[in-house]
This record gives sequence, C-alpha cells and structure tokens, in this order.
Amino acid sequence: MPDVQRIARTAQFRATVAQIDALSPRMRRLTLRAPELAEHDWPLACDIAVVLAAEDGREVRRRYTVRSLDSAGLVLDAVLHGHGPGSAWAAAVTVGEPVTFFGPRGEVPAPEAGWYLALTDEAGLPAVAAASEAVLARTPTASFRVLAEVHDAAEVYPLPPGVRVDWLSRGERPAGGVEVLNAGLAELARATDRPGYAYVLGESRAVVTLRDALAQFGLDREHVYAKGYWNLNARAGR
Ligand SMILES: Cc1cc2nc3c(=O)[nH]c(=O)nc-3n(C[C@H](O)[C@H](O)[C@H](O)COP(=O)(O)OP(=O)(O)OC[C@H]3O[C@@H](n4cnc5c(N)ncnc54)[C@H](O)[C@@H]3O)c2cc1C
Repeated sequence: MPDVQRIARTAQFRATVAQIDALSPRMRRLTLRAPELAEHDWPLACDIAVVLAAEDGREVRRRYTVRSLDSAGLVLDAVLHGHGPGSAWAAAVTVGEPVTFFGPRGEVPAPEAGWYLALTDEAGLPAVAAASEAVLARTPTASFRVLAEVHDAAEVYPLPPGVRVDWLSRGERPAGGVEVLNAGLAELARATDRPGYAYVLGESRAVVTLRDALAQFGLDREHVYAKGYWNLNARAGR
C-alpha cells in the first residue's frame, strides 16, 4: 500500500531567497521564505526537493535538508561540490530570486540512546546538526560524537554545543571514498565503548560499507540509520 500520509503532506512552495551566508568556501547557507511554510509540519531533519533546470533545460529536483525553520524562514546548507545543477544553483543564486520546492520529505530518527555516533561527509552535516540538536535538547546528558569527513580544515561546519566532533580532512582524495572515515572509526574503536545508536550519511556505496563496519561496535542494523545522500556515479543533470 502506498504511503498515503507521506504523499499527502508533501506540498509545493514558491519561495524567495531571503538571505545567503557563506558558511565556508564550499558550503552556502540559503534562507528561503514562503508565506505557507508555517502551515505544515516539518519533521526532524526532513528535506525539500528543489526544482531546478539542468544544463540542457530539463527540469530536475535536488534534495536538501531543512536545517531549521522559524519566522526568519527555512534554512538549508548546500555543498558547493562543483558539479551538477544543485551545486551550480547554490553557488549562483542571489537574494530575491524565486525558488520552487516540494516538501517536507523524509525524517531522520532520533531514538533514545545514551550515546550517539554519526559518520558523515559534508552533505550529511546539516542533518547531523539537526538530529544532534534535538537529541541534546531532549537529553542533555547524552553523548553525541561525530566523525566528519570534509575537504579540509576550512570546511568546519557549525554543530550544536555539546557535540564532540573529529574533523577528518580528505585533502586531495576524491569525495565519496571510505578510507578517511574507516580510519577514524578504527581509531575510535580502540578508545571507546559501544555507541547505542549511529547515523551514517554520505555517498551511497560508501554508506553501505561504513554501516557494515559499525558491526565492530556491536551495532546491528536496527540501531543504525544509514542513508545514501548522493551517488558517485550520478551523471550531472540526470
Ligand atoms: C535526504 C537527503 C538530504 C540531503 N541534504 C543535503 C543537504 O542538506 N545539503 C547538501 O549539500 N546536500 C544534501 N543532500 C545531497 C544532495 O541532494 C546531492 O549531493 C545531490 O546529488 C546534489 O545534486 P547536484 O545537482 O549538485 O549533483 P548531481 O547532478 O546529483 O551530481 C553531479 C556530480 O556531482 C557529484 N556529487 C553530487 N553530490 C555530491 C556531494 N555532496 N559531494 C561531492 N560530489 C557530489 C556526483 O557524484 C556527480 O558526479 C541530501 C540528499 C538526500 C537524499
């Protein structure tokens, strides 16, 4: 049976870009404003599908996490990775431009656990920020540890206070590999107890490998939220 509730709550919005902030050389924060945003429920770290034009003019959609939503607008943080309509749009868009999107879509779970571990690249950082913020607001005594693979030290991203994060630079290695996060995980395994719940967000095939690597912590799939956020073999504009 189709997920009727999920389909029914996804709406189309015609918004305006109200504010743009450079969070880092490769991450741009966009605040979108639309009159009907407050009429909808926006689940934890849900996402929107932004309607964009590919190079050949075809319509494509790209998904971005809702980092926050308040009276100032809906905030998303887009990685400027340099290829594809999403990255091109986020790099070039200006304040006052219209943007059409569909949402809300999806939701990131935050079950009760004493300590949480998140493995992510840049694309998953907004979701990790939203999830950790919710977890620590609900349970201030919880531990939230993040291994974040980023291009370099300039890509440090604002995570909520109380989150412990290791910034792991991939340097000139291409994005989407597992080497950097796997090494971080091996280091962590030597030093800590078992996490109660884990998030793995990033390139689709890397996410599967990293999810399996979490078995060394005794984490079964029920205690891991693993989601591919992008595909290494995607052809730009498809
Ligand atoms: C639920 C969900 C939430 C997401 N939230 C965010 C978010 O908050 N912020 C965000 O920036 N992204 C987010 N993403 C990821 C984003 O949707 C993808 O990165 C998307 O592919 C970007 O589209 P594009 O047009 O820029 O590139 P595409 O046209 O899809 O791909 C073009 C080329 O760029 C490469 N590429 C795509 N994405 C990346 C990347 N992140 N890093 C390096 N290379 C890449 C591809 O492998 C391909 O070679 C999310 C994805 C999902 C499923």
